[in-house]
Amino acid sequence: MSKSKSKLAIHGGKPVRAHYLPYGKQVIDEEDIQSVLKVLQSDFLTSGPAIEQFEADLAAFTGAKYAVAFSSGTAALHGACYAAGISDGDEVITTPMTFAATANCVLYQGGVPVFVDIDPLTYNLDPGRIRESITDRTKAIIPVHFTGQPAELDEILQIAYDHNLIVIEDAAHALGATYKGRSIGSIGDMTMFSFHPVKHITTGEGGMITTNNPLFYEKLLQFRTHGITRDERRLRDNHGPWYYEMQLLGYNYRITDIQTSLGTSQLRKIGSFIEKRKQLAKLYLQELGPVQELILPHQLANVESSWHLFIVRLQLSKLTGTRKMVFQALQKENIGVNVHYIPAYLHPYYESLGFRKGICPIAESCYEEFITLPLYAGMDSEDVMDVVAAVKKVISHYSNSSRRE
Ligand SMILES: *Cc1c(COP(=O)(O)O)cnc(C)c1O
Repeated sequence: MSKSKSKLAIHGGKPVRAHYLPYGKQVIDEEDIQSVLKVLQSDFLTSGPAIEQFEADLAAFTGAKYAVAFSSGTAALHGACYAAGISDGDEVITTPMTFAATANCVLYQGGVPVFVDIDPLTYNLDPGRIRESITDRTKAIIPVHFTGQPAELDEILQIAYDHNLIVIEDAAHALGATYKGRSIGSIGDMTMFSFHPVKHITTGEGGMITTNNPLFYEKLLQFRTHGITRDERRLRDNHGPWYYEMQLLGYNYRITDIQTSLGTSQLRKIGSFIEKRKQLAKLYLQELGPVQELILPHQLANVESSWHLFIVRLQLSKLTGTRKMVFQALQKENIGVNVHYIPAYLHPYYESLGFRKGICPIAESCYEEFITLPLYAGMDSEDVMDVVAAVKKVISHYSNSSRRE
C-alpha cells in the first residue's frame, strides 16, 4: 500500500468507515419492545411481578439460589457492601483497573478501599499480591472479572477462607462467563451484574446481586427498599395488617417492572449474544495476531470469557506516536475506540482522600497502553474487519519498524 493511499483520516485522508462505529451498544428487537409494552398496559409499573420474574430468570441462568435486582449495578454493589457488614474503617481489597463504582461502594459504607495490583497478562487482580495487603481491618475482597475473563477465583476464595473475608465479585463484564466450568454468579459470596446498555444485556439502568446465602439475601431485600420489612417473623411489634417497620437506614434502590420486563426478554437471547461476542473476538485475535506493535488479550485455559471488552495494549517502544495519537487517529477513521480504565485511585476524589500515583505500577502502565476496540452483539464480521483495517492503517503509520504492510 502506498503512503498516499493510506493517508490517515486525521491528516485529511478518507476514513476507513463512512459511519461511526460505537465501542458498545444495546441490541433491542421487537420481542423486547412488546415485553415492555405489556408492562406499560398492566397494573404494575414497579414492585410488581416482572421484577421477581427477572430475578428468578437470572438466578436460574447463573445457577445461584437467590437474585436481588437493583436500580443499577452501583446500587447493587452498595447493597452487597452493606450485606457484607462493611462499616467505618473496614478495609476492602480490590483492583484499580475498574470503573470507580467498584471502589466507591466501599466508601459509601465508610470503608477503605485497598488497591492491589493486577496480573500483567490477564489484567485481573493478582492473587499473589493479596495476602500482603491483609490487615486486622480487612473484611472483604472485590475482584472484577475484567473484560469478561474471570479472575483467579480458587486462589481468591482460599485467601478469603483463610482470613474470614467475604468475596463480592464485580461481574459487570462477565454475565455468562465460566470459571473451571462453573457459572459466574454461583461461586463467590455475592456477585454483581450490571445491565447498563453497553453490558451483555440491558434494562436501561439496572443491576443484580446473586448469592447462595439466605442471610445476605434478606439483607439485600431490606436495604433495597428503605430498610423496611413487612416480614412478620422479623417485626419487633405489630399494630395490624398495615404494619411495617423501618429497621435500618436503607435506600430506594428499586428497579421497575418496565426495566425488568426488558431484562427478561434480553436474557432469553444471552446465548446468542455471547456466541456473537466470542466469534467477533476470535476474528480480532486472528486478524490482529500478526501486528507486532500490539499485545492482544491473553486468555487463561480454564476459563471462558464472555467478552465484554476487547482491549489491545500498545507496545509504545515500537511506535513513534503516543497512545493519544493512535486513539485520536482511530476516532477519525470513525472507529469508536475507548479506554478502560483510568486506575480508580487516580481520580481527583481519591487523591483528595490521600491515594497517590504509584500504588499499583502495573495497572498504571497498562492504563497508559490500553485501547478498547468496539465489541457488541450487534456488530458483524465486516465491522470487525473495518476496525482491523483502521488499526493496521494507523499502527503502520506510527510504527518505527521498517516493515510496512
Ligand atoms: C458498569 C460497571 C459498573 C457499574 O454498573 P452500573 O450499572 O453502571 O451502575 C461497576 N463495575 C464495572 C466493572 C462496570 O463495568
